[in-house]
Amino acid sequence: MEYKKRVALVAHDNMKRDLAEWVDWNWEILLKHHLVCTGTTGKMVANTLMDRRGNAHGRFDVTLLKSGPLGGDQQLGAMIAEGEVDALIFFWDPMQAQPHDVDVKALLRVATLYNVPTAINRSSADFLISSPLFGGDYTPVVKDYKSYIERTLSNQ
Ligand code: PGA
Repeated sequence: MEYKKRVALVAHDNMKRDLAEWVDWNWEILLKHHLVCTGTTGKMVANTLMDRRGNAHGRFDVTLLKSGPLGGDQQLGAMIAEGEVDALIFFWDPMQAQPHDVDVKALLRVATLYNVPTAINRSSADFLISSPLFGGDYTPVVKDYKSYIERTLSNQ
């Protein structure tokens, strides 16, 4: 049985070509899943899938959030906190500071916190998408934060 995953795709501007090539390479697998993208990345992903699938049958499942620097990374982080993202493919730019660096850091932090499978470059994305777990039923273990949530604060 194939399991439909919610796959988030994000790429910084200098990495968008890399992601477009990767999406083009993996379009048949990606079409089976629900894609969630930051705004500009999402338009590029949709165009790439449209080219492959053809306009006549261009049915694919892509949700566009706001552009990353305009809050899209934070929207995605909120979705992860709500358990609405099964995998994150995030080609961030290691050579250029971003205006929303704090949002980038927050997104990567929350993905780590919730143990979301995350790929940060093409090779790790290749490994992720070719894993048998990608098309299967897999629920990441999330650490139990009960003791943190119920901690006693010294001023209470
Ligand atoms: P974008 O955002 O897809 O709107 O370019 C990417 C990002 O989060 O930096």
